[in-house]
Amino acid sequence: MRKLSETEKALIAQLTENTGIAMCDSGGAYGRNWEKNQGRTFIDEPATVLNFEKWGECFHINITHNVFHWLNERVDYDAGMTRRLKAFARRKQYEDSYWPEIVEDFAGEHGANEDSIGSVNTYNGADLLSQVLQYYHWYNRDTDVEYAAIQIHGGADVRGGYTAPKVYRVSDGLFDNARATIHCPVCRAMWDSDEGYYWHPEECSIDLSFLDEPGNVELPMGNIGREAWKLLNLSEEGYSGKQEAYKLVMLDTEEFPPQAERVRGDFYINSEGKGLCPYCLTGKLEASW
Ligand SMILES: [Zn+2]
Repeated sequence: MRKLSETEKALIAQLTENTGIAMCDSGGAYGRNWEKNQGRTFIDEPATVLNFEKWGECFHINITHNVFHWLNERVDYDAGMTRRLKAFARRKQYEDSYWPEIVEDFAGEHGANEDSIGSVNTYNGADLLSQVLQYYHWYNRDTDVEYAAIQIHGGADVRGGYTAPKVYRVSDGLFDNARATIHCPVCRAMWDSDEGYYWHPEECSIDLSFLDEPGNVELPMGNIGREAWKLLNLSEEGYSGKQEAYKLVMLDTEEFPPQAERVRGDFYINSEGKGLCPYCLTGKLEASW
């Protein structure tokens, strides 16, 4: 395994930090994240996991972005600022204070204008991350650097069990935690979503996450790759937000049918919840942010 960066070490320390047993954890029945994270290496795990699932009449597209990789791409650990925040929190006046008040005052002393401090808990909105984040972010008005004091939820119940904050410099915004793209590695067909629920190509917005008729799923015809156009013998003019209805075929094995037996118009999902690209009938669909 390669040497970890300072940011990677800081993130792993937070993901495995003992956040204790919160009063609201229901007897630990669901398991606490920090306990489940012990022994995980994070670095060699996939950045995003995609699987398809059918519950009764409903078809679900489940996407989870690994919070370690997601943050690692967007932030850089600032050890000096984190030390300063810890020292700041030990001041007598904060003896009985919680992190939100402390971090807000700290940001104020470190270049933030009062109206440039924002607070986010990813639980309060559409979210595709593997663990909940709570953070304060602000711009230093003198240096124009964006900081985030990030706490990672390590408990079972989301009301408690957050790590102590570490301070990171934000290189790429933290607001796209519900964005995702599904794509085919072979023909480059792709679908985008801003909130992991509605999947829309460039020209139209189509909800993929329900079946309008049992047994059928609709995939939008937009935003498919050049290779897919060729495979389908379509011209660019052939597309005008048109949809094709696909028959959902849930397989009870991991194997997809042999290439020659795959039927155009069928959307194959194997027993692992992996989907075969309905355009080229060759690539296994993948997801990313
Ligand atoms: Zn494909």
